[in-house]
Amino acid sequence: MRSVFLSGDLALDFIGTVSEWTSSRVELLARPRDLADWLVRAGLLDSARADAAELESARELRDALYRHVRALTEGRRTDAEAVAVINRAAGAAPPALALTARGAVSRTGDVAAALGEVARAGITLAEPSRRALIGWCDDGTCTRAFLDLSRGRRRRWCGMAGCGDKAKAAAYRRRHPTR
Ligand SMILES: [Zn+2]
Repeated sequence: MRSVFLSGDLALDFIGTVSEWTSSRVELLARPRDLADWLVRAGLLDSARADAAELESARELRDALYRHVRALTEGRRTDAEAVAVINRAAGAAPPALALTARGAVSRTGDVAAALGEVARAGITLAEPSRRALIGWCDDGTCTRAFLDLSRGRRRRWCGMAGCGDKAKAAAYRRRHPTR
């Protein structure tokens, strides 16, 4: 399974690199290389290398962000340990941005610099205007969160192929039971 960028927020997409947190807990960042790929695909770095220790700290940050977002959406305070992990990661200097001779944007830095951006995105989720927009996919096992920017806040699904479709099929079966 490939990780996806559907939530409208960097920190929420990063949390989504574990699928089904509360049940099967599918790990999408299995190797350091998966983390490096994710950081590039997220647009944080032009190229990245990661080692086992960096993967470990990325997973630690992801755990903390998951607990943070759960707390935000359940009206609780984020636990002190998660706060410390997020703040430590957020303290890293950001990736260096530069214009290339051809006028393109170059982004360079290490894993810590890129994870700092993820952590800072997670911090801004605590702002009331953003916190109010966080939703969790309605699918029973999915556990993907998103920022609901739809009119009237009607978004129910993470956007993964499957989640909304599965529910629609189940509703159809309820309306049209086979005898
Ligand atoms: Zn979903």
